[in-house]
Amino acid sequence: MVSKVKELKGRGIDVISLGAGEPGFVTPEHIREFAKKALDEGSTFYSDSAGILELRTAIAEKLERDNGIEADPGSEILVTVGGKEAIFATIMATVNPGDEVILTDPCWVSYEPCVTFAGGVPVKIPLYEEKGFGVNVSDVEKSMTSRTKMIIINSPNNPTGGVLEQKDLERIAGIVVENNVFILSDELYEYLVYDGMKHHSIGSFPEMKDRTITVNGFSKAFAMTGWRLGYMVANKRIVERAKVIHEHSVTGPSTFAQKAAALALQDERSWKFVKEMNHDYQRRRDMVMDGLTKIQGVSCAKPRGAFYAFPDFSTLEKSSVTMSELLLEKARVATIPGVGFGKLGEGHLRLTFTNPDDELREALQRIRQTIQSL
Ligand code: PLP
Repeated sequence: MVSKVKELKGRGIDVISLGAGEPGFVTPEHIREFAKKALDEGSTFYSDSAGILELRTAIAEKLERDNGIEADPGSEILVTVGGKEAIFATIMATVNPGDEVILTDPCWVSYEPCVTFAGGVPVKIPLYEEKGFGVNVSDVEKSMTSRTKMIIINSPNNPTGGVLEQKDLERIAGIVVENNVFILSDELYEYLVYDGMKHHSIGSFPEMKDRTITVNGFSKAFAMTGWRLGYMVANKRIVERAKVIHEHSVTGPSTFAQKAAALALQDERSWKFVKEMNHDYQRRRDMVMDGLTKIQGVSCAKPRGAFYAFPDFSTLEKSSVTMSELLLEKARVATIPGVGFGKLGEGHLRLTFTNPDDELREALQRIRQTIQSL
């Protein structure tokens, strides 16, 4: 879809893309300045493969303050090339051939390939639209077998905008402890929660520290997708194992980007930016919901986090690929077919709502007109 949009735009065709998982803002100026300064001061060499200590220390402080997780910067944090590398390295370091890994359906696109690269077996549990795309904890219970190695959760969620409730997280933690398995908690969108919702880190719950791999990064929180900076937090043994994969594949993330991120975490302006961005996204979320409810035949669970809406178009067209292609061709609006996120995503489209207000308004209007003309 992304390449189709590029091609159309290249031909001068006016396409509004609600497809990419990108923030709607450029990285704040003070963070860009930190990186320029780091370059000028000669941060052009390899860093410690685990990440510069200054950044790991700043991450540890943030984890303690915002997540209730205590982590030793020296041994329990690995700075990675985006959250994606943290997920890849974690799965490669923990999942053996034949191990089962519980994932939700729908879920973000890269978990399943990582599990299968490691020879693991993905086991899917549904997200329930009527529960705001939450889980039914009894599905997790029922999916546990003697081969289960790991559960992967992602809250706030891509592609649905769902946020897991504290009580569900507590029950999942109970299952993890009882069955002595790992949980990978992907918290990339932690600061993007709306309507007073709270994000909870499962790694902070009792008895969970050693069993949780918390993955996070700078892409969404500080609008730094192109910088490729993320991290994982886990017990020393898992970090050591993941570091072997990391060292022999990427060496480490770029040094000047890490310097800038370390300063960014400690700078009030970054947190002000996060707050303002959250405010803007919530307004845009409301605009999208308002636009979608005006389209007959479309329903959408209100996203409570992240920056995606996941409307159901299935009463109009069963195939999300067909619907997405139709909207691209007729409305000139790019969306992502829900089936790309799992079988249960079929009939849905993922709409990113980070675009400027006027673009979102125009996109929703075009979608409505196209659907009314069917
Ligand atoms: N996890 C989720 C749920 C995502 O949506 C993404 C990116 O879209 C990532 C992880 C990876 O993010 P990055 O590698 O940019 O940190």
